[in-house]
Amino acid sequence: MAVDRLKNFLRLGDWRKIGAAGPLALAAASVGIGAVAIFVGASSARSIALPVVSGALAGMLIAGSALTWRMRRTLHDQNMRLDAAISNMNQGLCMFDAQYRLMVWNERYRAMYNIDPLRLRRGVTIRDLLDARIAAGTFPLDAARYETELGDALRHGKTFTVDVELADGRTIAVVSQPMPDGGWVATHEDISERRRAERALERTRSFLDTIIENVPTPIVVKDIPSLRYLLINRAAEECFGIERAGMLGKTAAEVIPAATAAFVEAADRKLIETGQTLVLDEHTVSTPGNGLRIVTATRHLVTGADGNPQYLITLIRDVTARKRNEQKLAHMAHHDPLTELANRAAFNQCIAATLDRAAAAGESFAVLSIDIDGFKTVNDVLGHTTGDALLRAVAQRMAWASEGAFLARTGGDEFALITPTGPQPEGAVALAERLTAALASEIEIDGRSLRVGLTVGVGVFPRDGADAAALVANADAALFRAKSEARGSVRFFEMSTDRQLREKRALEQDLRSAIGRGEIALHYQPQALIDGGITGFETLVRWHHPGRGPVPPSTFIPLAEESGTIMALGEWILRSACREAASWRKPLRIGINLSPVQFQHGDLPRLVHQVLLETGLPASRLELEITEGVLIGDFTRALAILRRLKNLGVRIAMDDFGTGYSSLSYLQAFPFDKIKIDRAFIGNLGHSQQAEAIIRAVIALGRGLGLPVLAEGVETEEQVRFLASEKCEEIQGYLVGRPLPIADYAEAVGRPPAQRALSHAAAS
Ligand code: C2E
Ligand code: MG
Ligand code: MG
Repeated sequence: MAVDRLKNFLRLGDWRKIGAAGPLALAAASVGIGAVAIFVGASSARSIALPVVSGALAGMLIAGSALTWRMRRTLHDQNMRLDAAISNMNQGLCMFDAQYRLMVWNERYRAMYNIDPLRLRRGVTIRDLLDARIAAGTFPLDAARYETELGDALRHGKTFTVDVELADGRTIAVVSQPMPDGGWVATHEDISERRRAERALERTRSFLDTIIENVPTPIVVKDIPSLRYLLINRAAEECFGIERAGMLGKTAAEVIPAATAAFVEAADRKLIETGQTLVLDEHTVSTPGNGLRIVTATRHLVTGADGNPQYLITLIRDVTARKRNEQKLAHMAHHDPLTELANRAAFNQCIAATLDRAAAAGESFAVLSIDIDGFKTVNDVLGHTTGDALLRAVAQRMAWASEGAFLARTGGDEFALITPTGPQPEGAVALAERLTAALASEIEIDGRSLRVGLTVGVGVFPRDGADAAALVANADAALFRAKSEARGSVRFFEMSTDRQLREKRALEQDLRSAIGRGEIALHYQPQALIDGGITGFETLVRWHHPGRGPVPPSTFIPLAEESGTIMALGEWILRSACREAASWRKPLRIGINLSPVQFQHGDLPRLVHQVLLETGLPASRLELEITEGVLIGDFTRALAILRRLKNLGVRIAMDDFGTGYSSLSYLQAFPFDKIKIDRAFIGNLGHSQQAEAIIRAVIALGRGLGLPVLAEGVETEEQVRFLASEKCEEIQGYLVGRPLPIADYAEAVGRPPAQRALSHAAAS
């Protein structure tokens, strides 16, 4: 400013002021001489005065000239310096007078805008200048508007600032500063580099912001020492369950639940004290809006330029989801998904631990094996959804009643309990009573009232088993017996009975795979007319157990019936025997024994029909032997099945007659084709009058009903003679022939010797 004014002053007529100083000095000298003349007398004064005045004037003129020269010189020097300063300014500079005319500018200004030097003259208007710049392509704005806005600002004594972006990419900052005389001085500074740096910085900042914002790790930055939140990225926002606006500028205590806030701040302070990166492994924190989280937090200090800690950065790893998954997996590994009770794996772990504890302390405990009575019916009749709901309800009640004991679901409708260690069997009895009571009332499911009961088997440690496997197996054996003796009962393991039962179950298990392993074979026993002519063969099944040797049908048939294996076994026997008989030359009959179970499940007539078609055996050659057991129970159903079988053209024989109820009504209800008198009566011939009487009566009954009667178990000629005298038509027994592989009866069935080996292999 001072420089501007000075230059202004110098340029606008200061030279005139210096020129006026000479005459002024002369006038002053004349006045001075006049005064001297008055004082010393006029004439003498004149003679004195003239040379004095002349000398004075000459002196003054010389002095004046010297002064003027010196001043000019000074001013010239100053001007030179000023010009040099203005020319060497880094900024473009121009000065305008109150009439908006250009007074001063520097070369930098011209070069900056590449203005035609001819158009840059003292006195051109601002508008001329702008036009010159437009012509040079260095004024990209609206000139009229620029001029107006500039004028408005200057009139109000305000600085007018504008950043002009040139077409070549430069940015020029123009500052127009009003001056008191109404003019203004404008500086033009190329700020392109600064702008670029600023933009680069801005870009870097926004890049970093984007990265930090999008890093999936929660990041929190706090100010030191206030420990107020300065930065919270999106992941942290999500982790805390609160918008960052609610946290920024605040301390932990102001936003996080108190206990966690105290913990967080203590950790922050510890970091500041030690200066060491602080890692806090998995720990639980309460968040403002995302409940409890399990996190790992790493804290770092950031030091400022002065070497003092300035920021505290916390990186958080939210491991809640992983932890929950792990917990869920662990839960799944040890729980039954339907009832949420412990599963068998968990049960095994618990029993092992309890056993160790009890053994170490010399204490006792019990294992309860539980079966839900009536569950199967609900499941079969009302469907699996209701069955599942029932199991859940039962599990819930049992869990409630078995407080203190370990309850697990070990199978479909099987549960198991481990009592706490303590006196037994009292503990087990009390527990079983509580469980039974818990299921005493009806269970409401989907508007239905269902009632189920419990059957319980108990094994007591150490009496009933020293290890977990034995203890559980024996509790199961006790349960098995409880189920066969009385549903709803509680049975303790009994060494003798339960061992037999366990063996039976083991055998039952083996039987399931016996057909597949080729352990089952068929033997055939001839049936003959009383005179010895063979009419057919009865099929008798044989099981050769790999470890136990031959197992009699009286042992394994009931087992097969109990376990349901009889269905597959019966079908196999039927198919094999029919195929065998169909291969015989002689059209002999083939007798096949049927189990009552085969009448209760599946579609027996359809199976028989299918097998006859498959094997090509004429129906008339097939004789199915049934016992009274078939008709006891669902008589109507059995009768209907028998009728359908009969319709196929198959013969039906009543086996073992005289042993069971021997109800005559059965004989009346169905047109049997044969009555077989049980071998027990034949064996008693000659020993028992009653046996004789019964045989006579049955033969007479057969004759009356027009039914042929066959006597089983005929071993002696005496027996034959008696039967012949009574007009019994057919016999079967060791006397006629033992049950043997069909190969032994090849001749009797009319098989050529070449086929023997083949059929033997097929039968075994
Ligand atoms: P069952 O149908 O009354 O068979 C006759 C049983 O008497 C057979 O016993 C046979 O070996 C035996 N036996 C035949 N003649 C004599 C004799 O002169 N003296 C003596 N002491 N016994 C004789 P096994 O083979 O032990 O069969 C017993 C029962 O097992 C059969 O009685 C039958 O109820 C059942 N069974 C056998 N095979 C089958 C089969 O394939 N299916 C079904 N469901 N049950 C079968
Ligand atoms: Mg039989
Ligand atoms: Mg029999």
